[in-house]
Amino acid sequence: MSRAYGWTVDGQIIDTEADTIRRVADLVLDGTPVRAIANTLNREGITTGTGASWAIPPITRMLKNPRLIGKRDEDGHLVDNPAVPAILDEDRWVRINEILSDSDRQKHTRKPHRKHLLTGVCRCGVCGEPAYPSGTTVRASCSHVQATTATAESEITERLLVRVTSRPWLDAVQQQIDRGSDHYRSVISMADERIEVLAKTFGGGTTDAAAFEAGVAAAREVRAEAESSLALIDVVDRFPSLTDEDVVRWWADESTPLEDRRALIASVIDHVDILPLRESSDRDRFVVHWR
Ligand SMILES: [Zn+2]
Repeated sequence: MSRAYGWTVDGQIIDTEADTIRRVADLVLDGTPVRAIANTLNREGITTGTGASWAIPPITRMLKNPRLIGKRDEDGHLVDNPAVPAILDEDRWVRINEILSDSDRQKHTRKPHRKHLLTGVCRCGVCGEPAYPSGTTVRASCSHVQATTATAESEITERLLVRVTSRPWLDAVQQQIDRGSDHYRSVISMADERIEVLAKTFGGGTTDAAAFEAGVAAAREVRAEAESSLALIDVVDRFPSLTDEDVVRWWADESTPLEDRRALIASVIDHVDILPLRESSDRDRFVVHWR
């Protein structure tokens, strides 16, 4: 029996999945393209309820479902669905649907999405809420913290470059290259098989939610680690060579696409906590968590 992402078959909320839904909702509200959201989830090893990877259709289907606000569609009218506890509040859900139908309409107008170097990288250091670059500032909706985009970019870039030009980092990457992409691909498919088996067992109602979540979490961790090795191998393949000088040259080169720089950040940095200004100097406000 199939189930909607976020709930068990009998309608109980699965906390980890509900958290993912809320995070995806935040990203859409912040203007992140659904394609980029799918990439992020896949890179983190988060799968759909059936263990598949994410793409645009399952994400938009999930977000447009009135189940998210504890309702269902009855002949075009939303009515309460008391069997299903809500995951999102109605205001946000309505706004998300407006954004999604706008982007459906604009699909053929090739309107480029604005992208920042730090999209998806920063978090509020107080509560962990994702923080997004919007114009000249990086901020989270909790409004605990705020930073200038330019300052955040230069602080984080500086630390990133120190990291990726260090001998231990370059050696570790070389080891992963030597092990080869095929190795990591087979690790990923084994983890996928495991998640699929768990999803089937769970769908059949023979396992409890905690055992399911623990099993999936373990498989996802293995999968995520292999995914980031693969991503890293893919990024460093774009360097002229794997030496500190060439890495810096590549980063500084104007012809290096923003997407490639973002890919390097994503494969090296898990996230960056931004601390409140009054508790720290400008320099110490950005706490980088490496992968
Ligand atoms: Zn916060």
